[in-house]
Amino acid sequence: MAGPAPTDYIEIRDGIRAICAEFPDEYHRKIDAERAYPEAFVDALTRAGWMAALIPEEYGGSGLGLSEASVIMEEINRSGGNSGACHGQMYNMNTLLRHGSEAQRRAYLPRIAAGELRLQSMGVTEPTTGTDTTKLKTTAVRKNDRYVINGQKVWISRVQHSDLMLLLARTTPLSQVKKKSQGLSVFLVDIKDAMQNGMTVKPIANMVNHETNELFFDNLEIPAENLIGQEGEGFKYIMTGLNAERALIAAECIGDGYWFIDRVTAYAKERQVFGRPIGQNQGVQFPIAEAYIEICAADLMRWKACDLFDSGAPCGTEANMAKLLAAKASWEAANACIQFHGGFGFANEYDIERKFRETRLYQVAPISTNLILSYVAEHVLDLPRSF
Ligand SMILES: Cc1cc2nc3c(=O)[nH]c(=O)nc-3n(C[C@H](O)[C@H](O)[C@H](O)COP(=O)(O)OP(=O)(O)OC[C@H]3O[C@@H](n4cnc5c(N)ncnc54)[C@H](O)[C@@H]3O)c2cc1C
Repeated sequence: MAGPAPTDYIEIRDGIRAICAEFPDEYHRKIDAERAYPEAFVDALTRAGWMAALIPEEYGGSGLGLSEASVIMEEINRSGGNSGACHGQMYNMNTLLRHGSEAQRRAYLPRIAAGELRLQSMGVTEPTTGTDTTKLKTTAVRKNDRYVINGQKVWISRVQHSDLMLLLARTTPLSQVKKKSQGLSVFLVDIKDAMQNGMTVKPIANMVNHETNELFFDNLEIPAENLIGQEGEGFKYIMTGLNAERALIAAECIGDGYWFIDRVTAYAKERQVFGRPIGQNQGVQFPIAEAYIEICAADLMRWKACDLFDSGAPCGTEANMAKLLAAKASWEAANACIQFHGGFGFANEYDIERKFRETRLYQVAPISTNLILSYVAEHVLDLPRSF
């Protein structure tokens, strides 16, 4: 392992590493080549209770904090795996936990904690409005004891490997609300039921082995009791949940970053060209060292975001900054890693090109780098609003 070995959360790290050791590079490589879902890997993590880390003990989870949860994600990615297959299971339930009724919490959380139900999907993004979330066009209209959903979503992940999905839809037209963030509501959708009653799922082939889809809603009726919290307040609920997501994704990028650094330092010490290890050249050393420094710096911001979240303090700024720093740092590490493996970096059997593709995603999704910069510019630096 390159750099100093972690000295914190050792029990969690050891627990995750033991499971990940059963799923070596060959496993993830094969799953990637087959564009399959890492079912056995996700099952093993779920059975061992790791995916229920953030669910309070009274609902059957282990009641750990975001810091501990972030270590789980970091170690999965550091092992060569990809948390993208399962991270939704860990944090999507946050919206239900924080804003759902006690009856909803009792109905779903114990079963999610036990691994009987997967709440892996969250439907926010739409094809025609993209990042401009409050303009989304999917509507939910109340009809007696049901809501009728019409519209379209895009890039909605893990729908085919989930039982439940959080859905953000407009319940009051934009023209009738004072603030554009009002009038949006969150619903819990039973995916199998929805697929037989007006929801169509169309998979999107993409650069990463990431199961993601277009969704079409044609008069999908869902029970009114599946509304989470108050009608019209959904945007706020989704946003608070996203802070946890950002900090966890930062941890995944940090795990990726350390993985790239481990691989490239090992290779640079061993690979001999011009009669000496390539790692003896400062032209090779410096980009690796720089990426390592950036990962360590991003890691500090990740801990800050997690500590704030765990103490109940606002953490939007730190969670966003951690995600931006970590996504950039892991990408720098990925670039150095592929570069100094020369041609071998492109060979599938080295796993670098796979991790390279996987880590690249995080500068675009779940929030693009520009939108984080815009958040900091406006909300932290008080610069004029640009949209
Ligand atoms: C593999 C994958 C999985 C995903 N999973 C999910 C999911 O499960 N659920 C879900 O809801 N969404 C999901 N997404 C969607 C993801 O969150 C969006 O792709 C992302 O937020 C960017 O939105 P967009 O693609 O609509 O880009 P757009 O909003 O069209 O933006 C395009 C580019 O323009 C830039 N841009 C736009 N406006 C501005 C501005 N004002 N200033 C500066 N730059 C700007 C953006 O930063 C971006 O780089 C996923 C996406 C991918 C690729």
